[in-house]
Amino acid sequence: MTRPSTPATATTTTASTPSTTWADVPPDHLFGIDNLPYGVFSTAADPSPRVGVRIGDLVLDAGAVAALGREAGLVADGPDLASAWLTSSLNAFVALGRPTWTTARQWLTEILTDEVHRDRVSPHLHPLEDVQLHLPIEVADYVDFYASEDHASNVGKIFRPDNAALPPNWKHLPIGYHGRSGTVVVSGTDVVRPSGQRKAPGDPAPVFGPSIRLDIEAELGYVVGGATARGSRVSVDEATDHLFGVVILNDWSARDIQAWEYVPLGPFLGKSFATTISAWVTPLEALAAARVPLPGQSDPQVLPYLQGEAFGLDVHLEVSLNGTVVSRPEHAAMYWSPAQMLAHLTVNGASLRDGDLFGSGTISGPTRETRGSLLELTWNGAEPLTLQDGTIRGFLEDGDTVTMTAWAPGPDGTRIGLGEARGTIRPAS
Ligand code: CA
Repeated sequence: MTRPSTPATATTTTASTPSTTWADVPPDHLFGIDNLPYGVFSTAADPSPRVGVRIGDLVLDAGAVAALGREAGLVADGPDLASAWLTSSLNAFVALGRPTWTTARQWLTEILTDEVHRDRVSPHLHPLEDVQLHLPIEVADYVDFYASEDHASNVGKIFRPDNAALPPNWKHLPIGYHGRSGTVVVSGTDVVRPSGQRKAPGDPAPVFGPSIRLDIEAELGYVVGGATARGSRVSVDEATDHLFGVVILNDWSARDIQAWEYVPLGPFLGKSFATTISAWVTPLEALAAARVPLPGQSDPQVLPYLQGEAFGLDVHLEVSLNGTVVSRPEHAAMYWSPAQMLAHLTVNGASLRDGDLFGSGTISGPTRETRGSLLELTWNGAEPLTLQDGTIRGFLEDGDTVTMTAWAPGPDGTRIGLGEARGTIRPAS
């Protein structure tokens, strides 16, 4: 019987070779062999959270399999993946950098495709329904951008009707703000309605209480690894060395709190109470077939530090409210590339930390059915949505469940699933 080899001794699987897994996965499954997203899981038998890799409806205990090679004395030069994976977050793994991410993915592909590894690996595959999924990263710094032109225009029209829809800086730099990393939660975590100050324009004074305009924002989140030193920059072309992978992200937003507090320093308590991300981090390599050109940045031309390999991603999102699909945002329409956002984030010398997370900003398109927030879908409540059960929504009510899913094209006509970001609103405490 052959033991699973460690990455340094593995034969490499070239990306151009279609591979099939020996695991029980239908060919059209959203989590086929070309996906292999990373997450953190535990089981009843072993409650220690550790890194898992999803294949079909199974979760591979990646560190346990990597440790088999180590126990067999097969560890060669290079990082010890078992040590990185037998921890409670992906941070140790994303710290190892792009070359190791690539080697690890080749090794995972090999052990899940070559029959010779089947007997050794199979005992470390757990049915998805038997595992508990945890927050996949210990979020270091969290930034949220504002990269959709249609979203920025819509918000401008709603909140600043007397001014130009887009702020004058919008096409010169990807606008963002620093958010609260400690309140990023994994899909399935309930969200308590936040309380705060609000004051409508006609009100004589602000009042305090539970938000009455609780909203969603459908986004992608980018997980960063390969920490950099303070004082250094990451260029657009270097960005993919630090973009580990992608999650679905719901930037819950209390519009009434936000509207009263955001001038002049930007979002604060209207956003910081909760941000939901999917349990699976899809590696950037799995999205190779989803790379698309940006819609266009010719007018105006961006400054040289924002130029380079600025790719877009053809990711299709779907937003459901209590089971009714209310929107299908298209990430390919985003004006700014994640590579440009990362370059902009570091151009002043700000360092990157392993486990940094940045959001794309609400993904909205030109048509109503592609808008990524209730603010835009209902035009600030003026055009409410009717759900399948006949109820009407301007903003979220207690008990409402929002589920965001996403997929992207994979190789050979396959689809890459990104999982879901789901949350249910609980009454204010
Ligand atoms: Ca946002």
